Amino acid sequence: MEFSLLANAFNKMESTRKRLELTQYLVELFKNTPHDIITNIVYLLQGKLRPEFEGVELGVAEKLAIKAISKSSGTPIKKIEQEYRNSGDLGHAASIILEQKTQTTFLAQDITVERVYETLFKIAKLEGVRSQDMKIKYISSLLNDATPMEARFILKLLLGTLRLGIAENTVMDALSIAFSGDKKNRNMLEHAYNVSSDLGKVAHVIAVDGIGGVQKFQINMFSPVRPMLADRVKSESEVIKKMGESAAEYKLDGERVQVHLKDGKVIIFSRSIENITKYYPDIVEKIPTAINATNTILEAEAVAVNEDSGEFLPFQELMHRRRKHGIEKAVMQYPITVNFFDVLYHDGKSLLQVDYSQRREKLEKIVKEDDFVRCVPMVIVKNENDIEEFLENSINSGCEGLMLKMLDKPYQAGARGSHWLKLKREYRNELGDSLDLVVIGAFFGRGRRTGRYGTFLLASYDEDSDTFTSICKVGTGFTDEYLDRLYQILSSKVTIKKNPRIDSNMESDVWFEPELVIEVVASEITLSPIHRAARDVIRNESGLALRFPKFTGKIRLEKMAENASTNQEVIALYSGQKKITFDAGKM
Ligand code: ATP
Repeated sequence: MEFSLLANAFNKMESTRKRLELTQYLVELFKNTPHDIITNIVYLLQGKLRPEFEGVELGVAEKLAIKAISKSSGTPIKKIEQEYRNSGDLGHAASIILEQKTQTTFLAQDITVERVYETLFKIAKLEGVRSQDMKIKYISSLLNDATPMEARFILKLLLGTLRLGIAENTVMDALSIAFSGDKKNRNMLEHAYNVSSDLGKVAHVIAVDGIGGVQKFQINMFSPVRPMLADRVKSESEVIKKMGESAAEYKLDGERVQVHLKDGKVIIFSRSIENITKYYPDIVEKIPTAINATNTILEAEAVAVNEDSGEFLPFQELMHRRRKHGIEKAVMQYPITVNFFDVLYHDGKSLLQVDYSQRREKLEKIVKEDDFVRCVPMVIVKNENDIEEFLENSINSGCEGLMLKMLDKPYQAGARGSHWLKLKREYRNELGDSLDLVVIGAFFGRGRRTGRYGTFLLASYDEDSDTFTSICKVGTGFTDEYLDRLYQILSSKVTIKKNPRIDSNMESDVWFEPELVIEVVASEITLSPIHRAARDVIRNESGLALRFPKFTGKIRLEKMAENASTNQEVIALYSGQKKITFDAGKM
């Protein structure tokens, strides 16, 4: 397939944010795509080469791309940098430079999607001393044959700056329309995506086998299932009202791990379906003998423990394992227990449709409890007192609160719903919940904090526009150790210009790539003329902001920026808080 067809589609999609238009462009594109490359087209549309969980990163730095543009066009590096500063986008700068060049030269050869994809893939896989030179060679050879518009998108793909704002749901709508006539089969596609986390694969199945193929879509070992999530509740009575008799489990404060075990091979995925096997060599080693099954997918919370007392330790302890080197040492220093709470697949059969009670029964049979593995403590609760008692126990054991689960409900992959509820102790005061926010900027500190950042600008995630909207500045709750750590982590994320996905009226001393998520609590949410979260939703010309925010000590390295608190959640918290004031006023 000619790459120009894809570049044209990208170009059209870049010019709109309207979901209906985007869907139409996608439908057109899918209809014109040969079936054997639809998988790769779907990855490219999302700015990726493979599904997220395979972790294939292009990793081309701007400097290297500039060298490649220079090599291919014969333009001095300084001139390219100047053009980049003018346009703010390197892909755009490249197209302007190549525009001047193509007036004098011939294009050697048409480029195809297959060729672009293969070259990008080779670049992603290159490692070692000569890799930089090879990357420049590959990129410039593509640019030599590309039209200016094609070059623009090749560079955006390489640099990871292709932001078409296409949500997965929009891709599924378009696939459903293109290959089954209308949107009504979207649910089936969604199910297939939720059990595989691989939209490219789902696209291939519907293109080749039609909707019948999607219907038969099964869980595959080593393809992560998208996790089921919980709604929050504020009180024991709310749990009883919503669920009646239910299962209560400790809500442990660790990292969610989805463990795939087949014939002794173990792969571990995180909550955001990243492959995190390398951080848990102890799980890989011990699981095959600790589990009574050879072919299974289980979910657990890995929690750091004090080896002597067996006590659970807070989440931050576990995050010490997130390092590039010396994992073996970190494993010794920060021992864990693995606390299983669900089984999704067993002996060749999916258990997603099976009720919670039966899944739990199966889990208890499979897990051979010892010091390292166990099932999460669970009791059946019938009334508020039962819940309160178990909540006390859980808090006293160092947990965050309880997870409440409906006994007769299946596992809803990829959904946050009311079949699971979470009750945390701190929900009873102030805002009701902590927020996970993205660090988008910072201000240099004074006095004791000189030489580091003293205050941070934080953002919530706006799902509709795929942007990060400023919501508060935070400067309290940070120990010196945390300020050092944040300075270190954030130094690799500094950008020259504000990333276009950041929506903020505030100026800050430095801007960052919106990647790092930290947890804050606050006293309330207020309307704000400056901050951009949920702008114009509650009141025109106003956004929402946090009042008296405070860092809780949690740097959430396991969360991606897109997993941060969304504006929908902020609006819900704002509305909940208004109701409380209103009710109090009536009394
Ligand atoms: P939070 O920020 O509160 O951890 P979340 O957005 O990651 O929440 P939720 O569905 O809201 O996800 O809360 C469930 C999380 O709690 C899971 O992702 C998991 O990491 C953790 N957890 C701890 N104990 C349990 C349990 N017994 N059952 C399910 N999840 C548990």
